[in-house]
Amino acid sequence: MAIVEREVLRSGQPSVLETQPEPSRERLPLGPLKTIHVYWLAGMSCDGCTISVAGATNPGIEGLLAGAVPAMPKVILHHPVLSVEAGADFVQSFVDAWEGKLGAPYVVVYEGSVADERIAARTGGYFCAMGVGAGKDGEGPQPVPTATWLGRLAPGAAATIAIGTCATWGGVPSAEGNPTGAMSLMDYLGKDYRSAFGLPIINIPGCAPQGDNFTETVFAVLLFLQGLGPLPTFDELGRPAWLFRDTVHQGCSRAGFYEEGIFAEHFGDPECLVEIGCWGPIVNCNIVQRGAINHMGGCMRAGGICIGCTMPGFPDKFSPFYKTPPGAIVSTFAAKSVGMVIRRLRRLSNRDANREHRWDVMHDVPSGWAHVEAQTAVDRAMKFFYSVWQHLGAKKPGRPPGEKDRFWGADRPGSRSDYIDGSATREDK
Ligand code: SF4
Repeated sequence: MAIVEREVLRSGQPSVLETQPEPSRERLPLGPLKTIHVYWLAGMSCDGCTISVAGATNPGIEGLLAGAVPAMPKVILHHPVLSVEAGADFVQSFVDAWEGKLGAPYVVVYEGSVADERIAARTGGYFCAMGVGAGKDGEGPQPVPTATWLGRLAPGAAATIAIGTCATWGGVPSAEGNPTGAMSLMDYLGKDYRSAFGLPIINIPGCAPQGDNFTETVFAVLLFLQGLGPLPTFDELGRPAWLFRDTVHQGCSRAGFYEEGIFAEHFGDPECLVEIGCWGPIVNCNIVQRGAINHMGGCMRAGGICIGCTMPGFPDKFSPFYKTPPGAIVSTFAAKSVGMVIRRLRRLSNRDANREHRWDVMHDVPSGWAHVEAQTAVDRAMKFFYSVWQHLGAKKPGRPPGEKDRFWGADRPGSRSDYIDGSATREDK
């Protein structure tokens, strides 16, 4: 592989020339692969993404690392926290990939945002680094920023994946007023970036992201690289479209309360949380359907509001947290007005559906728990019209006129000993 001088930073920062291998830009799937290397780099991160991925279950990383997932190559993970190797031995593999000596394809995963290392360099420091390399102008070995590693490895990677909101959109480290110039991978590598297989950056946002969103996407991309599956669908921001198409609200277990105009006033209340600060109606995320780990938890299920952590505008456009979003004031007014009527009508239907048909005919609910309110004349009238409408153009179940009383009433089929109340009219012989 040829070594060339390239512009490492393509946007967001002035370009910097660095010697690096010329990646071979293959365009076709490689498969079937036996192994694939994954180089995990961490920028301005809290390691939450690593913890999430370690908890993934569908598939779990254990299966990917053991090569036990059908159709999947064995994943060789080079992770600064999880790898067994340390020091120069650990970094050597990154160097091999950079220099094109790996002999196998690799994927780059970046966790955390990319700091503008020029700011730190002004005072002779660095923000995020891994390993050491030769310093400039005769300096001794210097820490190598992970941003530099990203610039070295991304062009030759089969795919580059940004995991977590810091890597996908800059996240908390890039909030207004930050001192590090932190940015996302897209901002750092630029819109012209393509992996060796022609893929732009794949973004899996979330703070922390759901581990299964990551492993499922990796699984889908690897299937494609294996030549066994189509390229998964991504939206215009590089998110797996099937995971981030819907809003939190569309999949929320509390959305029924919103529709009926019933809202929580305090944390711990079971109703919709929008009036105490939930941004779910405008946030693309599948946290409620999927749960946080192993289909359990997830913000609203656990009683928390949505603060928009998967969105490019997070956190600035969602602050102050825990305050009613302005748009919610209009929509909750509308929901309350309509919901007030709808929920009362539904309560009537609900009360009716909570009775056996037999109980209606017998005018009695034999519950040993409590007295059940009898049907009123209004209930019966509503039920009549509702039932006519419900069965319009359809055959209504039931018995022919005249048969009804014989079946439901005192004249019950069988002998007296068939019933504990001896209500059948026929005597035992
Ligand atoms: Fe929508 Fe949030 Fe209410 Fe759930 S809690 S229904 S996401 S507004």
